[in-house]
Amino acid sequence: MLLQVELEAEVDGGECSRCLEPMSVHVQTSFEDLYVFEPRMIEELDEEQVPRDGYIELGVPFRDYILLGMPMNAICSPDCKGICIECGQNLNKGSCEHNHSVVYD
Ligand SMILES: [Zn+2]
Ligand SMILES: [Zn+2]
Repeated sequence: MLLQVELEAEVDGGECSRCLEPMSVHVQTSFEDLYVFEPRMIEELDEEQVPRDGYIELGVPFRDYILLGMPMNAICSPDCKGICIECGQNLNKGSCEHNHSVVYD
């Protein structure tokens, strides 16, 4: 059985790649999984097994694919100011005494 899934989810537990604030990330992904019904074929094919009652535990693959679909450079807003590299102050919430001109080394 080939399982085709399209997923769209709002995932908590992400963080802004600039200011590191916790944020929910919108994930849109799709995947296919092959499930094998014949128990004796499983060792040969090394695919995931469908239990006898036909119930497929989707929690684990869903979570894995959502994590795969999560953007690596999500930011909380397009004009996020990030954090001070000296003291870690979240510059969206307030400034600090440091010079925040960004220097790329
Ligand atoms: Zn941010
Ligand atoms: Zn600072």
